[in-house]
Amino acid sequence: MKPNPSFEKLDLTKTLWKTEGRRHWQFYCPLCSVTRRITLHPRPQPRHLVQVGIASAFVTMLAWPLFGLKGLVVFIPLWVGFEVLYRMRVRAEISCHACGFDPYLYLSDIPRARRSVEEFWKQKMPPKQPEPPVAP
Ligand SMILES: [Zn+2]
Repeated sequence: MKPNPSFEKLDLTKTLWKTEGRRHWQFYCPLCSVTRRITLHPRPQPRHLVQVGIASAFVTMLAWPLFGLKGLVVFIPLWVGFEVLYRMRVRAEISCHACGFDPYLYLSDIPRARRSVEEFWKQKMPPKQPEPPVAP
């Protein structure tokens, strides 16, 4: 019996997931030293400018009877909205899922960052109530 050629080529030491083609931003959590890896870049990239530009050109074409070429001003509110949403996504992804440390919050307000880590641990492991003594 001839073996299936697809099984011969299967190398279990390599991952089957696509690991190339996408840059990851990798760092260590300063609080718990867990390796953090996020897929988003901290700041919007030039390709995002192109994407928002194409979207604003499309909106301008839709509103051409009303505004004409002045409709290109729609790029500004579209960019502001995009950047707000993008930074919210980055902030949600950059906070550590193991210890609850939020680097953005730490840069702006250190006591609030400490409180958020304490609240994270209280939610993860609520304090145990002392059990009443059992009568013999
Ligand atoms: Zn951490």
